Amino acid sequence: MFIPFHYYDPKTFSEFLEIANQVQNYQILAGGTDLLVKMRGGYAACQNVIDIKKIQDVPEFQKIEKNQDGLVLGSLVTFSELLDYQEGKPFFTALYEASKVMGCHEIRNRATIGGNICNAASGAEAGSVFLIFDAVVHIRGAQGTRSVSLEELYQSKSKAGKPGISLQNHELVTHFFLPSLPEKSHSIYLRRTRSAGMDLSSLNLSFACYQEKNHEYKYRVAAGAIAPIPCRFREIEQMLSSQNGNHSSLEEVQKKIADLSQPRPNSKRASVEYKKDQVSELLMQAVHSVPFFRL
Ligand SMILES: Cc1cc2nc3c(=O)[nH]c(=O)nc-3n(C[C@H](O)[C@H](O)[C@H](O)COP(=O)(O)OP(=O)(O)OC[C@H]3O[C@@H](n4cnc5c(N)ncnc54)[C@H](O)[C@@H]3O)c2cc1C
Repeated sequence: MFIPFHYYDPKTFSEFLEIANQVQNYQILAGGTDLLVKMRGGYAACQNVIDIKKIQDVPEFQKIEKNQDGLVLGSLVTFSELLDYQEGKPFFTALYEASKVMGCHEIRNRATIGGNICNAASGAEAGSVFLIFDAVVHIRGAQGTRSVSLEELYQSKSKAGKPGISLQNHELVTHFFLPSLPEKSHSIYLRRTRSAGMDLSSLNLSFACYQEKNHEYKYRVAAGAIAPIPCRFREIEQMLSSQNGNHSSLEEVQKKIADLSQPRPNSKRASVEYKKDQVSELLMQAVHSVPFFRL
């Protein structure tokens, strides 16, 4: 049941700041698919809800553009809008794969990319995939604008131990920037869920591989729902880059990612043992999916 709350829908960013200053205790509403569920369940009780979808003077909120440097993605872009924007797909395949399996049509039509990242659930579909694309988060508040890597934001969330990413007072995420990978690259998103129907990930893994100018292969690996926040596995990336392709070194990599994973023991979706086993299984699937060489 909902506890009554005041609803505000500012039309400009300065109106948003005015309301935020005035009411102090509030929740931001984007698509509402996380927030309203939490409010109804009594996990996010608050007296004031500020809907940011009608803010007109921050065009970055709605922006979606692939340019030669990468992909600009507004925080209010929905998963359906992203899937409709086919120009980004060849360069950010894993992101499109993750968006396609997120929720269902109705949820994807409503749920925003910004909400998915800001809510910072450990298994959030965009979480691990944004990490392998080195996403930069652009933030605007009363003091102006700032940008920070998503990896850094997630780490500060984990230190703060609070739900959601750590933003300062009255800050909003306006957009994200995902730099393009080099031309010869490959990315994939894999996940395990409990059933064939709609469910959040029991765990997920995002993987990218690309060839540098000096012909060396580099890797990026991140996973969700195997720790309190989506995590990038730099040690695994290093091991993959330096391994010589023999079977035993891949076995070491598999063992290492299972050791590094720290799933919550009380997850209702999957046991610790299952998650540790499957994260290494998904990693091998990802490694063997690279089309331009075999490890
Ligand atoms: C039936 C159902 C199925 C779902 N399935 C999946 C799934 O398969 N995978 C998955 O990852 N998620 C799933 N979700 C969760 C949810 O849909 C996503 O996390 C979604 O992307 C949240 O976006 P939103 O716009 O609805 O966020 P909201 O609920 O509006 O906001 C979520 C939080 O983010 C903050 N926030 C939002 N935008 C900003 C901003 N621009 N700046 C600062 N803070 C902001 C808000 O304060 C709020 O706390 C599901 C939810 C439901 C109800």
